[in-house]
This record gives sequence, structure tokens and C-alpha cells, in this order.
Amino acid sequence: MSDTDIIVIGSGIGGLSCAALLARYGYRVTVCESHTIPGGAAHSFKVDGFKFDSGPSLYSGLSYSPSANPLRQVLDAIGEDVKWANYDTWGCCLPEGEFETKVGGDQFCDVLAQLRGKEAIAQWRSLQKFMEPYSKAATALPVAALRSDLGAALTLGSQSIGLLPHLSRLPKLTGSFSALMDETVTDPFIRNWLEMLCFLLSGLPADATSAAAVSFMFADWYKPNVRLDYPIGGSGALVNALIRGLRKGKGTLRLDTHVEQIIVQKNRALGVKLRDGKAIRAKVAVISNASIWDTLKLLPKDSMPPELVKEKAATPECDSFMHLHLGIDAAGLPKNLACHYIVVNDWELGITSPQNLILISIPSILDPSLAPKGKHVIHAYTPGNEPFDMWEDMDRKSDSYDRLKTERTGMIWRAIRRVIPDIRDRCDVTLAGTPLTHARFLRRHHGTYGPALAAGQASFPGPKTPIKGLLCCGDSTFPGIGLPAVAASGMIAAHTIAPVSKHLKMLKEIGV
Ligand SMILES: Cc1cc2nc3c(=O)[nH]c(=O)nc-3n(C[C@H](O)[C@H](O)[C@H](O)COP(=O)(O)OP(=O)(O)OC[C@H]3O[C@@H](n4cnc5c(N)ncnc54)[C@H](O)[C@@H]3O)c2cc1C
Repeated sequence: MSDTDIIVIGSGIGGLSCAALLARYGYRVTVCESHTIPGGAAHSFKVDGFKFDSGPSLYSGLSYSPSANPLRQVLDAIGEDVKWANYDTWGCCLPEGEFETKVGGDQFCDVLAQLRGKEAIAQWRSLQKFMEPYSKAATALPVAALRSDLGAALTLGSQSIGLLPHLSRLPKLTGSFSALMDETVTDPFIRNWLEMLCFLLSGLPADATSAAAVSFMFADWYKPNVRLDYPIGGSGALVNALIRGLRKGKGTLRLDTHVEQIIVQKNRALGVKLRDGKAIRAKVAVISNASIWDTLKLLPKDSMPPELVKEKAATPECDSFMHLHLGIDAAGLPKNLACHYIVVNDWELGITSPQNLILISIPSILDPSLAPKGKHVIHAYTPGNEPFDMWEDMDRKSDSYDRLKTERTGMIWRAIRRVIPDIRDRCDVTLAGTPLTHARFLRRHHGTYGPALAAGQASFPGPKTPIKGLLCCGDSTFPGIGLPAVAASGMIAAHTIAPVSKHLKMLKEIGV
């Protein structure tokens, strides 16, 4: 049995953020990743010279600091960065028509002028004004100061003063966004737009999406002159920056290292047993970056009360994804192609309904190094709206699986055709992914986007578990799904272990 101070199970952005910070604080950290590529849902992979993002395409608040984005705060704390491309324009293919929209300032009003008229513009402006204090409240406390122990009184102490003027907003911030939306917006198009943004943020509609998360987004996207970010080199470049941070300290990343079981004795996590039969002892803690359902599978029987296991296993799940990863010939494509398109087929169906919302990302527009000369990479997907149950019992080698794959990617092809009509004739590489691909390559239970915990009705748990020395981070823990959120969860888990003095020193250094 080898030994280390801390074992992190999984190299998702949550796990790597946690591990890199702990390495910065001087711990010996061993990250055990089951896959041969690090990054979890945010890994990059290469096929025939095309570099694809497995997951995220939308990044913001990362190319400058200090920033309210917790992932930026992690990068600052570990002294790492990536090069960022910036942009502000998305393409939209909506039931109302096809147009471009920009983040930042007032540009959405031009869209509303075209589609809805003066009353809608007035509503949007009053929503922006209405959201201002909520956005200030949501960003008043830097996530980097949070920890899940009494030390929080010290790390949050000086920062809490910034929260005082916003205390009256807190009750609504902890509820769902629809409560705020209902107070200000009646225009059906704006409501549909906001429902869509909520779904992209949380995998849930507005009445289940946290008001704090939307307020945070408003602070980030609708301020003057804001630009969105894309990491040069793809999501893998971001993963590599975190790994560099890990390795600068006493951190090790072990790929192709599947954890079979967490070793628990007398209600304390002592280490992990690997698939190859070897074991690693953790002197300080084991931290699971796997989802709640996948973490439960790693616990020895009887290590937690059965009712608690049952309750945790019953955590509601967001749906999964269908993907197309394409390497295409770019010859003759319009020069003004946007790097992202949002396609909605029918607002009436509801934004969460399967096959209705499709995202198309063409990141090689921002970073040509992702594709061979004269080519583009495309990642088009249905975000968190593909039910797992229709795939559950399928054999991936069967004809019926291939048929269903063809049927369910049909909508994605049709969406891409709205942007690139001859897409089928341009493909050098075509990869179709299903919820089974998702479950298999991301080691995620049911290929789920994450827990479907409705704001105001349920809350994401913190990093601690009933087993001593076992903590969790990632999208099954507070504050939830998405890169900023999982980086925040990684920070909170790391700071729950790290000494307050080191934590305070780091806060001073990164200037938040
Ligand atoms: C298609 C898609 C698009 C997205 N788009 C965006 C976006 O535009 N913007 C945004 O902010 N967010 C986006 N997200 C969400 C974001 O990517 C995820 O919320 C986040 O990356 C999850 O990170 P995590 O650390 O919680 O876990 P994961 O990324 O799931 O990582 C967990 C890791 O643990 C490993 N693991 C599991 N079990 C074991 C085991 N037993 N032993 C060893 N290793 C194990 C897994 O292999 C995996 O690498 C998107 C997600 C997807 C899937």
C-alpha cells in the first residue's frame, strides 16, 4: 500500500481545482482518474488532427482577474492561466427567426425592437435594473473565502461587510429565478429567452433554477463591454493549467486508475482500493469528485446508514446528451460564421423537452489551431435533454442502437443545416455520441448532466459526508452544475481541509 496525504477520486474541473489548491497548500495529493484523458466532462480529445471539446463551450469571467468566477479564482490561487480568445456574438435560430445577439450592455434591445417592440424593450430594461442589486448580492462574497468549518468565521469575516447592504435580497436569492422573473417580465419572448438561459445554466427550468445563479450570470453577461471567453487549445488547455498547478506542488495525477472502493474503517475513510487490486492510503482525507450516484457505488456496504444511502441514491437526475462531433472542410463557408449557435425548434413544447434545444459550437473560429488548415471542428449537442431510459438496455454493438443513434442525431443534423446547409458533404470526421457514450467516457451515472435539485425546494449538499475524512466536490455538491460552480465546490472542499492561516494568505494574494 502506497501512501499520500489526500486522494482525489476523479480529475473533473471540480476535482482538479480542489487537488491543485491542496497541492499549493503543501499537501501530497494523488488524483486517481479512471479515464486515460483528464478533465471529466470538460476533457479534450483528438481524432485525425481535429481537437474536440467533450463538453463545455460557454466560458465567461475567466480572461481577467480579479473576477467573481470561482474558476478564475482557482487559477489565480495556483498562479496559472491559459490564453483566452474573446467574442461577444452568438447566432440564434429561434422560432421567431434567425439573428445574431450579443452579450453586454443593451444590444438585446435591438433584438427585441425587431421581434417584440417598445413594451418588450421597456420590460428588458426594467429587468436589468431590477437584477442589479441581486447581481451585486450574488457576487458580494467571494467563493474563495468559503469553507465548511468554523474557520469560515475568519475567512469570511472581513468579506462579510460587503454583504451587509444586500442582506434583504438574500431570501429571494436562495429561491428560484421564476419568482424574480414573475415580478418583472410578462413578454412571452423574454420569458422564453430567460427559460432557455436557466436551462443552459442548471439543466432545469426557471422555476427550479437558483436565483443566485441567474443573478451571477446577469452580473457577468449584461454589463457594458463584456466579452465571453474561449480557452485557446480548447477545454483541455484549461484542464492542463490545473494539472500544472497540481504538479507545481506535491501533486500527482494518475490516469487510467479506476477507484474500485473507498476503504472505510470505524467510520473513517482511510484510502482507496484500485481496480488493479492495489491500494493507496490517505493520511488526511479522501475527496470524491465522482457524482453522488457514482460515489455511493464506491462505498463499502454498511459504511453509511442504509436510509441515508437510499435517500442519496434517490437524488433526482437531469437528463443526458446527444452529441455530434464533426471535423469539416471549411472551404467557402461565410466569413461571418458565429462561434456559437442556439437552435430552438418550438417554445410551446417547453425548453426542457427532448430534441428541442440544440447548441452548436464551432470553436475553431476562435482558435484555428483546433483543426487542420482549411477545416473546422464542430460540437453540436442537445444539452441535458436526452432521456436515458430509452437507451438504458441497448447493446452498443447492435443494429437497433445504430438505428436509434441515426434517428436521435437527425435533429442535430437539421439544426446544423440551418447554419451550414451542405454540412453532410463537408465531414471528414463524424462522431455521434449518446447517453451511453456519456456514461461510459465520462464515468457518469446514466450520463446525467447532474443532480436535478430544484432551487427553493432542495439544496446541494456541502463537501462533508457522514464518514470522517471523506469529502465530496463536483457537480453533486454546492453550488451545483457548470464550470464556475464545480470549481467553487473544489475550492470549498480544499479549504475545509486547509489551515485558516494559509487560506487567509491566499485570499490576500489573489486580491478578492
Ligand atoms: C456536453 C456538455 C456541455 C456543457 N457545457 C457547459 C458550458 O458551456 N459551460 C459550463 O460552465 N458548463 C458546461 N457543462 C457542465 C460542466 O462541464 C460540468 O458541470 C463539469 O465539467 C462537471 O465537473 P465535475 O468536476 O463535477 O465532474 P466530472 O467532469 O464528471 O468529472 C468527474 C471525474 O471523475 C472520474 N471518475 C468517476 N468515477 C471514478 C472512479 N471510480 N475512479 C476514478 N475516477 C473516477 C470521471 O472519469 C471524471 O473524469 C457542460 C457539460 C456537458 C456534459
